[in-house]
Amino acid sequence: MSTYPVTCPTCFEEFEVPLPPAGETPAEVDYDCEICCRPMIVVYEVDDNEVYASARGIHE
Ligand SMILES: [Zn+2]
Repeated sequence: MSTYPVTCPTCFEEFEVPLPPAGETPAEVDYDCEICCRPMIVVYEVDDNEVYASARGIHE
């Protein structure tokens, strides 16, 4: 399974999240930071058949 680095909006540490299949994007999932365990939203989008992820805070 491929992963993609995202930056936590709370602690600003970077970690890898697993990517869903391209057919299941775009999608947003609740995710807990692997470093500080705060909740965030990971947004999966597809561009030219490449899935990528970004993270944002739950209150944004
Ligand atoms: Zn964090």
